[in-house]
Amino acid sequence: MNLGVKPPTAFSALVQCKCPRCRQGRMFSTGPYNMKRFSDMPEVCAHCGFKFEIEPGFFWGAMYISYAFSVAIAVNISLILWWYAGNPDLWVYAFANGGVMLALSPLMLRYSRVLMLYLFGSVSFDRKYFDKF
Ligand SMILES: [Zn+2]
Repeated sequence: MNLGVKPPTAFSALVQCKCPRCRQGRMFSTGPYNMKRFSDMPEVCAHCGFKFEIEPGFFWGAMYISYAFSVAIAVNISLILWWYAGNPDLWVYAFANGGVMLALSPLMLRYSRVLMLYLFGSVSFDRKYFDKF
């Protein structure tokens, strides 16, 4: 029971990859750097029973969000290199971008799915599911 407990804000729940309906249940089964299972999601929210993949292939759209993350990060890394390293050789840009993309790919996958669900999932927070249990 959470009666009287203030629920987390939508932003806080999003950052913590919590279910958009109850803001309690976790959207992913393991930590982001569990290399074998970092993309594993439970079918339904363990707290409120919300089905995360609201229709078959729903999370395919998250690829576009992930692509936007990649472009934004690549542009920023390239600008930082250009500004602070004085326009180094092309291989420096390639290795810096490749390394950072590889390191951040589990987080990009997760946050693209979470954003997809929060922005396009037509689901909103419901206090009654937060209070459940
Ligand atoms: Zn839930």
